[in-house]
Amino acid sequence: MISYEEALKIVLNNCHPLPTRRVKLEEAYGLVLGEDIFSPGDVPPFDNSAMDGFAVRAEDISKATEENPAILEIIQDLKAGMYGEAEVVQGKAIKIMTGAPIPAGADTVVRKELTVLENGSVLVLKPVPKGTDIRRAGEDIKAGNLVLKKGQVIQEEEIGILATLGLGEVPVYPPLKVAVITTGDELLGITEKLVPGKIRDANSYTLQAQVKKAGAKPFLFPRVPDDKESILKALREGLKCDLIITSGGVSLGEYDFVKEALEDLGAKLHFWKVRQRPGNPMAFWSWDGKPVFGIPGNPATSIICFEEYVRPAIRKMMGFIHLFRPQLKVLMGEDYIKESRGRLQFLRVRLEKKDQIYAYLAGAQGSAILTSMAAADALALIPEEQDFLKRGEEVLVHLIHLPEDH
Ligand code: AMP
Ligand code: MG
Repeated sequence: MISYEEALKIVLNNCHPLPTRRVKLEEAYGLVLGEDIFSPGDVPPFDNSAMDGFAVRAEDISKATEENPAILEIIQDLKAGMYGEAEVVQGKAIKIMTGAPIPAGADTVVRKELTVLENGSVLVLKPVPKGTDIRRAGEDIKAGNLVLKKGQVIQEEEIGILATLGLGEVPVYPPLKVAVITTGDELLGITEKLVPGKIRDANSYTLQAQVKKAGAKPFLFPRVPDDKESILKALREGLKCDLIITSGGVSLGEYDFVKEALEDLGAKLHFWKVRQRPGNPMAFWSWDGKPVFGIPGNPATSIICFEEYVRPAIRKMMGFIHLFRPQLKVLMGEDYIKESRGRLQFLRVRLEKKDQIYAYLAGAQGSAILTSMAAADALALIPEEQDFLKRGEEVLVHLIHLPEDH
């Protein structure tokens, strides 16, 4: 049996980013940028007005007061999108809208609120410093500058920047295709009637949601019964994807065929069993260059193993710079005696901010219990060598449900 740290290292060493490709900007949202982006031009491309008002020479309004305004003749109206040929000379002004280019001769914009109109002239009631309300060419981005970095997620802001730069196609890591194969004779579909001995399949749906949330594309396979032939068939189909997750069937039960099936297929087993709880019988293979995760079937275990191993793997393959959830050291809010000695325990906790942040059990910790999983803000990691934690003792947590999720 290996440790959590060793297992995670093996997983990441055997998952590699997919080759990048170019996609239309409209399809790039949520993907990861595959190359550094340098700006092909200045943003904004020309000096322009930051306000609706008048383009003037600062000198002409330097002595303006409410009693004694500067009177300037308006020689043109400039809307955004227009390009004016007229020049602002002494005693003249050009009416200008936000975004319109600063006309020749003008060095300042005086906003509308500081002016009064009278007989085709503008009365400026107050001086403003030279350069006021002008947005300079290149003040946001200079031509040639590194604007976005490889590995950055393309969110709405990045989309805006790429559009502004005129980049209609962008290099990205493609969405990772993830096969979700759930095994178990006892499993029913959501709408099927419960009959004695059967339960409804939760993992197909939680895993599918987790894959989506990690930024990848799930392919949900029909549930597979606990027989080797069916499992072999599903796994072969799974190879169409970039990564395979199997749920259930990796323990020591007589009908746990996932390991055997992968062995028959010639997959390389990297590990089976990790010194952790829950999720002790987790397994990991490489098959045909693709990672395969054998996740034990208990629903809370499944969520935790995905979080701790599959999610970072997916993110590495999708080119993300940040593979892991944020982590934090907090204080235990209550005593806790560990269930299994010599294994790392992932504890479902909720966090409360008092003088410091405290972690409390989010409910019963059984591997099948989903409600405590739903109530948890974080997973606390109780190290292998620690048998109990006292109230007030420090503990590391992985923030799996960031506040925006609540
Ligand atoms: P296994 O890992 O196949 O030995 O399953 C361990 C436990 O998890 C058993 O009690 C199963 O009934 C349960 N289980 C397995 N797969 C699922 C699933 N997809 N949804 C809900 N419970 C499951
Ligand atoms: Mg099973």
